[in-house]
Amino acid sequence: MSVIREDLNKCIGCRTCLTICPMDVFRFNEKARKSVIAYPDNCQSCGQCYVNCPVRSLAMQNWDMSQEITNYR
Ligand code: SF4
Ligand code: SF4
Repeated sequence: MSVIREDLNKCIGCRTCLTICPMDVFRFNEKARKSVIAYPDNCQSCGQCYVNCPVRSLAMQNWDMSQEITNYR
């Protein structure tokens, strides 16, 4: 379970995912003006990048939000 790319074309290069990720998973491709999932193995599946990406360019692999919520109840 980790972050995956839903649609790279959607990425507007806002860098929110780079700023918000506590595990330093992302890098930035200056030429393409898009983020890069550079270190997916470091992802702790906190979901912050996914939730805060303004254009849903990212997705969570095997992430069941309803299950997560249930687990915290
Ligand atoms: S899910 Fe969390 S740890 Fe994984 S890449 Fe996104 S912000 Fe970083
Ligand atoms: S938060 Fe979304 S739009 Fe912004 S750089 Fe990351 S993937 Fe691209």
